[in-house]
Amino acid sequence: MNAFKQLGLEDHLVQAITDIGFETPSEVQEKTIPLLLDQDSDLVALAQTGTGKTAAFGFPMLQKIDINSRTTQGLILSPTRELCLQITNEMKLYGKHCKGLNVTAIYGGASITDQANQVKRGAQIIVATPGRMKDMISRRLVDISKIEYAVLDEADEMLNMGFFEDITEILSYTPKEKSTWLFSATMPKEVSLIAKKFMNSPTEVTVGHKNMGSKNVSHEYFLVGARDRYRALKRLADANPEIFSVIFCRTKRDTQKVAEQLIEDGYSAGALHGDLSQNQRDVVMKSFRAKQIQMLVATDVAARGIDVDDITHVINYQLPDEIETYTHRSGRTGRAGKSGISMVIVSKSEVRKIKSIERIIQKEFIKKEVPSGMEICEVQLKALANKIHDTEINHEIDPYLNDINTLFEDVTKDELIKKFFSVEFTRFFNYYKKSKDLNTQSNSSHDEGRSNDNSTRFFINIGSKDGYDWMKLKDFLRDTLQLNQDDVYKVDVKDSFAFFNTDVAHKDKVLEFFTDFKQDGRFINVEITEKKSRDRNRGGGGGRRSGGGGYGGGGRGRNDRSRNSGSRSDSRGRRSDSNSSGRSPRRSSDFKPSGGGDFSRARKSRRK
Ligand code: ADP
Ligand code: MG
Repeated sequence: MNAFKQLGLEDHLVQAITDIGFETPSEVQEKTIPLLLDQDSDLVALAQTGTGKTAAFGFPMLQKIDINSRTTQGLILSPTRELCLQITNEMKLYGKHCKGLNVTAIYGGASITDQANQVKRGAQIIVATPGRMKDMISRRLVDISKIEYAVLDEADEMLNMGFFEDITEILSYTPKEKSTWLFSATMPKEVSLIAKKFMNSPTEVTVGHKNMGSKNVSHEYFLVGARDRYRALKRLADANPEIFSVIFCRTKRDTQKVAEQLIEDGYSAGALHGDLSQNQRDVVMKSFRAKQIQMLVATDVAARGIDVDDITHVINYQLPDEIETYTHRSGRTGRAGKSGISMVIVSKSEVRKIKSIERIIQKEFIKKEVPSGMEICEVQLKALANKIHDTEINHEIDPYLNDINTLFEDVTKDELIKKFFSVEFTRFFNYYKKSKDLNTQSNSSHDEGRSNDNSTRFFINIGSKDGYDWMKLKDFLRDTLQLNQDDVYKVDVKDSFAFFNTDVAHKDKVLEFFTDFKQDGRFINVEITEKKSRDRNRGGGGGRRSGGGGYGGGGRGRNDRSRNSGSRSDSRGRRSDSNSSGRSPRRSSDFKPSGGGDFSRARKSRRK
């Protein structure tokens, strides 16, 4: 008998499962589905991301509601619009054989009238984000007074995002005698609080260890100078030609900047963060799902819960502020039984965080070396060889073959192969031939990899007493001084004062800015202080990046194709890995069509 039927699901749902292609229930499904079908009790289910929680609550809900009624009986709250749409689509898919089923998504940024009309037509199930839901309730556009099942999906994230009050208010419009099912990847205090407040002695189901990451994911870290972060990122991408990844940054600003840099450097990348319009976010997500974008640069909030299959790598460009968030990030890969790699780029001051994360995920990180330029050349060459080997011959070239054959008459096959591969190889080789080793040795001093001569150390009269830790101070300085992400470094926060460095080039700007600078009625004083003498002079770290002036904050419209696929835009000045001038090797070589998107095509052919 079908394993899902054994859990107690009715035939039309089992049929949908077969259509979708699920063969065996996941652990959380095995534990929750029979329970939810059998009883009308409350439930707290903890399971890491990618374990199939949507189906765990979706199928029981579909089985229990009365399709023949037009009353709204099920409410699913989820933190973001993306998730809301994702769950809605899944529910529709699960319920494809439920005749008359109407699942309606309610979320901000789209027409409230349209959504209200859909509800009016009789939505048995509403999937909503808390903000818009509250709005609709207060305008009496929905009636949830007859709800029988309420699901809080990604509860930890909803609380993280400050939805506690909204959730409280929404639930106050639902009847007391309903079942509440809470799903969460982690169990912070706030979640247990909500379980206590809103639930009636819930059954608790835990899959794996609480807060533990997926077992299909391996974790790697790369130790680099803080200013080499971006170059390290590019090398990781270049060393994995078939990469399909989410890259996490800490702030919206960094997210936007890294994405723009990647696009400018010829990678197929896109940004996803809260400062983009809903339309822009939709466009990016659509391209990513279609694998037209290889690298999605995202903030934690924007990428939370996004379920895109086949993500090969999660790259932590920066570690999250809350290390618990790491579990969510790495859970973007290794989904549905596939394996994945979560990579972390760290500077020396962050290495201790790796240890803390290891305790949380109960797994060890592998320390890896950032690939050298030559290693990358080799990988790229082999990838090209495979690609050519697997390429189907396009007979449209037949009419031209005579001419080509004449041209190559005197060339042996051996020579031809060499020449052919040199075209591609030389591109990477020229780019990487002078590249330096980006790996920082962990036993050296607290140097983040830059030359001392080029650096100025400042004293500032604000410290932890004023609510700053090193990250907050770094953000504050960068934002007020309008500097780039790695321009402020060696931030060292004491009780009532702190130190930080910038390159000499910014010295005057810093001093000038903080002359007579007042915040909250108080003078903030910045002075030059003595340099640390123990810094080694590594050289090579001082090459300045250009200001990355393209950053405009808000992103551009959908007509800017470069945003969707970097390999489409025309070449402009490129940064080089070795800090000398040079084009990124990802830039088109001569025989690529300019309208290309070669990576996405390579990808599609590989992925059926
Ligand atoms: P979670 O909410 O726990 O993060 P999802 O419900 O989004 O996980 O499911 C993750 C992925 O696994 C989805 O692509 C989903 O279609 C797939 N999936 C869910 N259940 C099964 C199953 N029993 N067999 C195979 N794939 C499944
Ligand atoms: Mg989910």
